[in-house]
Amino acid sequence: MNILVINAGSSSLKYQLFSMENEEVLAKGLCERIGIDGHLKHTKLKGEKKVFDEDVSLPTHAEAISTVIEKLTSADFGVVSSMKEINAVGHRVVHGGESFSASTLITDDVMKAIEDCIPLAPLHNPANITGINACKSVMGADVPQVAVFDTAFHQTMPAKAFTYAIPYEFYENDKIRRYGFHGTSHKYVASRAAAMMGKPIEELKLISCHMGNGSSIAAISGGKCVDTSMGLTPLPGLPMGTRAGDIDSAVLEFIMNKYGFSISEMLNILNKKSGVLGVSGVSSDFRDLDEAADAGNSRVALALDMFDYWVAKVAGSYAAAMNGVDGIIFTAGVGENSASMRSSICEYFTYLGCTVDAEANKKRGEEIFISTPDSKVKLMVIPTNEELMIARDTKTIVE
Ligand code: ADP
Repeated sequence: MNILVINAGSSSLKYQLFSMENEEVLAKGLCERIGIDGHLKHTKLKGEKKVFDEDVSLPTHAEAISTVIEKLTSADFGVVSSMKEINAVGHRVVHGGESFSASTLITDDVMKAIEDCIPLAPLHNPANITGINACKSVMGADVPQVAVFDTAFHQTMPAKAFTYAIPYEFYENDKIRRYGFHGTSHKYVASRAAAMMGKPIEELKLISCHMGNGSSIAAISGGKCVDTSMGLTPLPGLPMGTRAGDIDSAVLEFIMNKYGFSISEMLNILNKKSGVLGVSGVSSDFRDLDEAADAGNSRVALALDMFDYWVAKVAGSYAAAMNGVDGIIFTAGVGENSASMRSSICEYFTYLGCTVDAEANKKRGEEIFISTPDSKVKLMVIPTNEELMIARDTKTIVE
């Protein structure tokens, strides 16, 4: 079975084609500047590796999907002989609200429910819907389409974790609550952690630290999410590349009154100009920050210190919330690659009986324990793979 995984943004579309017999990625790519002019980078991975990287006209998402299918079936860059060999499509959908606690086959009712979640994710869900409609129009109604939600894994959170302490009517009438994101990633690395530890996930208390441009932490007890740091939107929790994370909400009124900002200008600051970029004034990219910190920039050092501190403080609160922890997982761009960040975060965990194996911590790009054998809590680096998780869910649902 071949499954196409689609992650559609407002002007971009990422894809991977999987052969599910051995979970091999046959080809992958990225359409950019859809609706503006258009660029496609397509990489054929099956057999001889070949890259197509050129400007192509992509006026709409449907034309982007047509172009992708044309490449996937072409003589030069193709990996299947016709569109009929693509058996199903799995779509990343950002917000499933309270309607979806698992991935689902896309029907008219499901489309309606995804549309109903637009107020909760006004930037993301419309793009995901456009991607689904584009696939339907190009591939026809016979090819099953599956939605995999970023929020679904977190739907097991208890009310005490997801309810905001504001008048309850805002939850009842408007569904204002904590939802959480990166669920596909947290679910994937938690299942890999259980496999690495050789224990059923039902017996484990895990803390998953997804640290990338956007970062979130999840507390996973018995394989179920019991708390997570993002909320109604992906803005709260840790300070991120450009997002503020948690702040006193009264700060908004103070800044808006003093500088005459509208709410959208204020949110633009909190989403795009804050986080480690805002504090350091240098970059949102942790590689740049590592370099600048080495060169002695004290604001960069503060931004990095704050990031470590927040990861440790949120993870520590989850150890308390679960009344214990068996394993702590580091994943995504920073979690997988930055040994220095992992070791400074783990310094906060000695009270848990954690000890880092400095040699193991230097490795990259593989699933590995970075704790010493006698460490009471296992520390793990696990490269995330959201696309594979989407492909697996799609396969299960289609079968
Ligand atoms: P996204 O949230 O966009 O999916 P990623 O998971 O790809 O993000 O993570 C991107 C982040 O990972 C960037 O801030 C980048 O600087 C960081 N990163 C990548 N490699 C390294 C590295 N070797 N050391 C430190 N940070 C790194």
